[in-house]
Amino acid sequence: MDKLFIQDLTVHKKRVLVRTDYNVPLDENGNITDDARIRATMPTINYLLDEEAKVIIASHLGRPNGKPNDKDSLKPVAKRLQRFLGEKVKVIMADNCVGPTVKKLIEEMRYGEVLLLENLRFHLAEEKNDPAFAKELADLCDVFIQDAFGNCHRKHASMTGVNSHVPSAAGFLLKKELEYFEKSVNNPMRPVVAILGGAKVSDKIKIIENLAKKMDKILIGGAMAFTFLKAQGFGVGRSLVEDSMLDVVDNLMDLSRKNGIKLYLPVDFVVADEFNERAQTKIVPYQEIPEKWFALDIGPATTKLFAEALQDAKTIVWNGPMGAFEFDAFSRGTYALVDAVTSSHASTIVGGGDTDMAFHKAGKTHEVSFISTGGGAFLKLLEGGELPGIASLSKKKT
Ligand code: AMP
Repeated sequence: MDKLFIQDLTVHKKRVLVRTDYNVPLDENGNITDDARIRATMPTINYLLDEEAKVIIASHLGRPNGKPNDKDSLKPVAKRLQRFLGEKVKVIMADNCVGPTVKKLIEEMRYGEVLLLENLRFHLAEEKNDPAFAKELADLCDVFIQDAFGNCHRKHASMTGVNSHVPSAAGFLLKKELEYFEKSVNNPMRPVVAILGGAKVSDKIKIIENLAKKMDKILIGGAMAFTFLKAQGFGVGRSLVEDSMLDVVDNLMDLSRKNGIKLYLPVDFVVADEFNERAQTKIVPYQEIPEKWFALDIGPATTKLFAEALQDAKTIVWNGPMGAFEFDAFSRGTYALVDAVTSSHASTIVGGGDTDMAFHKAGKTHEVSFISTGGGAFLKLLEGGELPGIASLSKKKT
């Protein structure tokens, strides 16, 4: 990475603004249901506390559209942080993220304490990337640390604007995300296999194009498979298809062939007469999807084929479920691949909300090498794109 890392800057006894992604899921009572994103930032926070910095944390939560409200307040996160840091470290919750009260809190807080600013998106200026708002945030600190990997694909004031006023660097989480990505996608141990699933080819087209240059094998599952099958002239019943993508998919298959990359498509499916849990279901080979039925999961022969394709893998990259896995009846394919991946000896990186959830539900998060904390940001990297939140950090001196 050509950007500065937190350890390249002097943070001792400094006011350090850390941008985190604490956009955590909350239940109807405001309880955090998954604190992985908070946990993932602890190395950066603990490092800054050891350095006796004033640790000022900024994040967004939900989509308040510029309107402050209790539901999108970061107060539950402050409580969780306090629990993680223990009694010795004081965690202060601010009622805003800029303005005179925040400035006063920062003046009065001690070194070695934490101040969590209130939701950045309570100000429309954040998502509008307003330079004046970015300057107000920059005025709160001497140094800026970017650790909000999950938001790095967004050009928001706190993501790309603060950096131009103060020295900035990547935090421990950001560095870890980029290192895992680099060693899984750009510089992997081979053979390297990508598993791609999910609903739409159009969302993943750039990813497949990029991975068709880098992987040894690509396994295509989920509803995406039907556009590939239709492009080859097979009937897919009432399964999800993007007709506008048929030519694109044809070209992709050519590209993979040309690059010597093996593209695996499902060979059988779980089909249902309705798209719901109570539907009548059966397993059919890929050439025999009945006209009025929906194919909603990969079948057992595909699971076996995919598991075999993974057997010699040294690196696996996975994004997207193999079927409509929210319904138990169509979740078997996804969970069978979770088992195949976790029992392989490959280094595995998983990204994207649904895939992440499948590992959580299976209780197997600790059995993969790395689960990315970023959905959109992870996808952008898979596309081979640059993340603005990273591009704008201070460069290492050469
Ligand atoms: P994505 O956000 O593109 O990764 O898509 C995830 C969604 O794809 C999940 O909600 C799945 O239910 C859906 N999905 C995967 N396979 C199928 C399928 N065969 N038919 C319909 N939806 C599917």
